[in-house]
Amino acid sequence: MRKRFAKILATVGPASAAPDTLKLLHEVGVDAFRLNFSHGNHEDHARAIKHIRAVEKSSGNSIAVVADMQGPKIRVGTFEGGEIILRYGEIVNLETGEHSDKEGLIRLPHPELISALSVGDALKFDDGKLMVTITEKSATRLKARVDVPGGLKNKKGVNVIGTVLPMSAMTDKDKIDMDFALAQKVDFIALSFVQTAQDVRDARAIIGDKAGLIVKIEKPSAVDDIEAILKLADAAMVARGDLGVELPLEQVPVVQRKIITVARALGKPVIVATHMLESMIDAPTPTRAEASDVATAIYQGADAVMLSAETAVGRHPATAVAIMDRIIKAAEADPSYPDFYTRANLRPQATINDAISQSIRGIAEVLGVKAVLGYTKSGSTVRRIARERPPCPILGMTPDKAVASRMALTWGVRPVVMPDPKSFDEMLKITQIIAKTQADALPGDKIIIAAGIPFGRPGTTDTLKIATID
Ligand code: PEP
Repeated sequence: MRKRFAKILATVGPASAAPDTLKLLHEVGVDAFRLNFSHGNHEDHARAIKHIRAVEKSSGNSIAVVADMQGPKIRVGTFEGGEIILRYGEIVNLETGEHSDKEGLIRLPHPELISALSVGDALKFDDGKLMVTITEKSATRLKARVDVPGGLKNKKGVNVIGTVLPMSAMTDKDKIDMDFALAQKVDFIALSFVQTAQDVRDARAIIGDKAGLIVKIEKPSAVDDIEAILKLADAAMVARGDLGVELPLEQVPVVQRKIITVARALGKPVIVATHMLESMIDAPTPTRAEASDVATAIYQGADAVMLSAETAVGRHPATAVAIMDRIIKAAEADPSYPDFYTRANLRPQATINDAISQSIRGIAEVLGVKAVLGYTKSGSTVRRIARERPPCPILGMTPDKAVASRMALTWGVRPVVMPDPKSFDEMLKITQIIAKTQADALPGDKIIIAAGIPFGRPGTTDTLKIATID
């Protein structure tokens, strides 16, 4: 049983895909596993899902599985000799095509790019290591000035800065991967390259309610329209890897705060991702700055923090998780941790759900209750309770295993799969047992129960009971 509120999401890769390693990673703290569809094939992912579900079964804990789509990757073509050197201040040409056999010519194998770009737009190459700015445009060609020089090799990635590209967030590969992931009953699909709210609508048309939809915020246009985009999604990821290329680096922490604030207000789980314990890919301990970065995300109110290469290809995947677990627990034990509850401007909606959720936090604070037990059909009541950040575990009770696994990503929630009680009296008996076994409640402790009577109908939460453990 987790004795912390924020969740840990770990990326599966060659360093962690073995059944024993997945089991160990869960034991030391992983609540959700991310499968990165930029790597591996369907066979690898199906095997990992099977092993994760086996861990879920043997541990009795719900675990969320996130299928992270690759999205469109824009790349330069190839060069005679495999590379060209871009010199500071020189003017280079950009044309549609696959292979460049001329000095100073970069080919882009994406016909829509040349027409979408305008004078003043910037292109970054190779994860932001080189940069050019467009100075001239004709029907078939762009001229660009080299602002950040260096060697540009075949097929290196391109980031377009300053414009929304006429490209869908989903490629044909993503659609095939999504169908596969949904057939495998993953809990969340994470969508890369989201530029507009329409991208989220397009993905939702495929996903429906078969899985939760996480939007990866990695583009400035998505940051600009963050509220509309998050309203359409089930959760958000601060994808700092791509954000740090698309935006000036100093904007990454600013945007991280903004995304967390908006997601918190909307009650959507928010994950902070990338480079959290990066040095642990090789080293057995993180840097002080990395420890501080994880703690900062926790203090800011993130629902989850994510490990990428640290657990996918790193040398110390279990240690990275264990250290992340310790950092989170230390931040959560700090008496100043709850300060952000009062700073977060949550503005409840005029719904019974939010009225009950807000009251639960107030009661939990006044009485020092041991746990909140919420009966939930779709997970929505429990997410609204979690949005309020009560100072005690939230036991999310549901008969639906898929709803339980999805709740594993939400701050403070310990999912419990169990049939709905048949009567109010049965509910009171069951909650006594669950509070004792899942939240260490002892005789005399207070608990809060939130439920909709009659049981089993979504959207009917209307009852709040304060009970004493006997
Ligand atoms: C990121 O950009 O931070 C991210 C998580 O996405 P990807 O792994 O696709 O780079």
